Order: sequence, then C-alpha cells, then structure tokens
Amino acid sequence: MRKHFLPFSRPSISEEEIAAVAEVLRSGWITTGPKSAEFEKEFRGYCGAEGAVALASATAGMHLLLQALGIGPGDEVVTPAMTWVSTVNLIVLAGATPVFADVDRETLMTTAALIEPCLSARTRLIVPVHFAGAAADMAPIRRLAAARGIPLVEDAAHAAGTEYQGKRIGRSGTAIFSFHPIKNMTTGEGGMFCSDDPELLERVRRLKFHGLGVDAFDRSMQGRSPQAEVQEPGYKYNLTDIAAVLGLGQLRRLDGFIAKRAELARRYAERLAEVPEILPLAVPPWPMRHAWHLYIVRLDIERAGMGRDEFMAELKKRNIGTGLHFRAVHQQKHYRQALGLPPGALPATEWNSDRICSLPLFPAMEMEDVDDVVAAVKEVLSR
Ligand SMILES: *Cc1c(COP(=O)(O)O)cnc(C)c1O
Repeated sequence: MRKHFLPFSRPSISEEEIAAVAEVLRSGWITTGPKSAEFEKEFRGYCGAEGAVALASATAGMHLLLQALGIGPGDEVVTPAMTWVSTVNLIVLAGATPVFADVDRETLMTTAALIEPCLSARTRLIVPVHFAGAAADMAPIRRLAAARGIPLVEDAAHAAGTEYQGKRIGRSGTAIFSFHPIKNMTTGEGGMFCSDDPELLERVRRLKFHGLGVDAFDRSMQGRSPQAEVQEPGYKYNLTDIAAVLGLGQLRRLDGFIAKRAELARRYAERLAEVPEILPLAVPPWPMRHAWHLYIVRLDIERAGMGRDEFMAELKKRNIGTGLHFRAVHQQKHYRQALGLPPGALPATEWNSDRICSLPLFPAMEMEDVDDVVAAVKEVLSR
C-alpha cells in the first residue's frame, strides 16, 4: 500500500509564480490593475478570443451573463443536470427555470439531439458543458441555437486549452472558464469570460464592477476615476492582481500541464483496460485536443458487487483520493424536493451519477502513481 496519501488533484505552483505573487504584494497595487489587464490580454491571445474579462470565478461569469441577458421569471435555461451546481443555482436564483437535457452515456456530454426536445418558446439560453477536458460537439449545437435564435454559452470550466475542430475553446461564441484550484490552471479562485460579442463583453465588464462605466483600474489614472458613476446596478466580481499574476504564470505552463495530463491518462487507459469492472469515459470521435482535466471512470456496480461510494471509501483507506464530478443536480436534496423529477427522467445522467468516480490526475503525478492507483483499484475489486 502507498505510504503517502495521493490526492485526486493538486495545483502545480512554481517558485517563479510564488515570486511573482510576492512582487505584486510588494508593489503597492494588489487588486485589479495592470496584471489583470495583462492576464486578460494573454488569455485572449491564447484562445484567439475577441475579448476576455477576468472575474472572481466562473460562477461570477455565469451570474453576469444571466443578468446581461435579462433572464428572469418565466424564462427557461437548458443545461445538463450532469454539471456543477453553480449554473443551476444561479438560474433558480434569477427566478428562471432550469430545463435539464440528458447527456451521452459514454462522454457525459450533452448533444444537439438531446437539447432539441428541451427547447420551448420560453428558452432564453442554452448552456452545454465541455466535460472533463474534452470538447462538446459544438457545431450541431451552434446550428440548433442559431436556427432558433437562442443565445448559447459554453461552460468551459474544464476546457482551458481544449481544442475543437482545430480551434481553442473561447475563440468563437461565448465561453466561461474557471481557475479554481482543481482546474487545469489556477488563480486560487478566478474565472474568465470570453466572447466574440462586443456588446456582451462591454456589459459584462461594466456589471462586474458595480455597474460603473469604467474598469476597476484605469491605466491612464493609475487607479480608478473617482468621478465614475453607476450606469446600471452591478456586482463586485473583479479579479485581483494577486490572482491574475498567478494566472499569467499558469497560462504559460498550460500546454505543458496538458501534455503531462495526457501522458498520465494514456497510462490509465492502458492499465485499466485489464479491469473489466472499470469503464473509463469514452473519448469523443470528433477532432479535438483533450485537456484531460479529469480522469473519470464508471464502476460497473453490478459486476463489482459494491456501490461507488463504498469503492471510493475503500480507495481512501488505501491512501488513494478520488473525486465525484458530478452528483446529478436534480438528485440533490433541494432540487429533488423543488423540482420533483421522477426517477428515470434523465436516464444516462442518473446511470452515471451512481457510478462515476474521478481518479487522481494532476501534472506533478508520476507514472508510478498511476500504477499505484490501478493496483489499489484491483485490490479493492478483488475483495
Ligand atoms: C468548477 C466548475 C464551475 C464553477 O467554477 P468556479 O470558478 O468555481 O465558479 C462551473 N461549471 C463546471 C462544470 C465546473 O466544473
């Protein structure tokens, strides 16, 4: 058994990044300022996006988008229930109604065919999720949204560096990225809103900082104009320079992180091929670069004779950490009661929700760590 606990995720922070953060701390300007502006510019360049707004989190980005689109009571937003709870919470808090599209059983990704029956005259937004670092098949989803005139936002929390049909996610349309510590790159907490819609960008930029017509930092002023006035009520979702400078360092290393993650994922795939109770997610067939944010497997609970929660607990006893991405939103306490969807409403989502488990995957892992995980998995299953 492993001597030391292997967490399922751990951020890779370099000494240079720590030094850069210290430099910002000593500089006299620690909140939104020149580093945030530089981070936006670099991230925009990396994705090929027309515009990017740095934010306190991806959740903040989704909140601002819902506000910018004026989504509220009577409106419906179509999203998978196989997602992080933040999207659905915000839809409900805005007074709107979430309508859940099921996902493909093997990729956890929602598709145009699964979204289409969820659309109605009230649909005001579609939120597909790029899952685990793979890209959703956006071309048919874009065609469907365009044909109905419905706005589309890509939940790209898992997809910094993911490419679809040869283009980075964020290059076209509107996409929201997360820099939470478990994601492929981190700012501690943070997010980025990318869009090719200049009006939407302007609106989000304004709403992120009290609805003032200015950014939190005006380079010509070396600060914010004290005369700035509220153009519309806004929020306080700006990213600090302490966080942004970390993001700049992480962004430069992102391609290296992804390459290492891909190597580890290949090792998992090879080793797990001999474990019949373990079903890794399928890699979608369309052209893409997988960013390998998560290595998700499904436990064949019938064959294994144990539930997923027990499987995770047994791995933990053997010093192997795991994650759960995600417990289906409609099956969580509040939503079970508030929405009351009957069991079987979202068959592939529910099937996966009972069986998925994320195995350790982060750039500082070694191939031997993968072997340790697989050895522990085999031992648990052989009991
Ligand atoms: C992490 C995550 C979010 C939220 O990101 P934050 O930056 O933590 O707000 C949204 N959607 C998905 C799918 C996520 O995994």
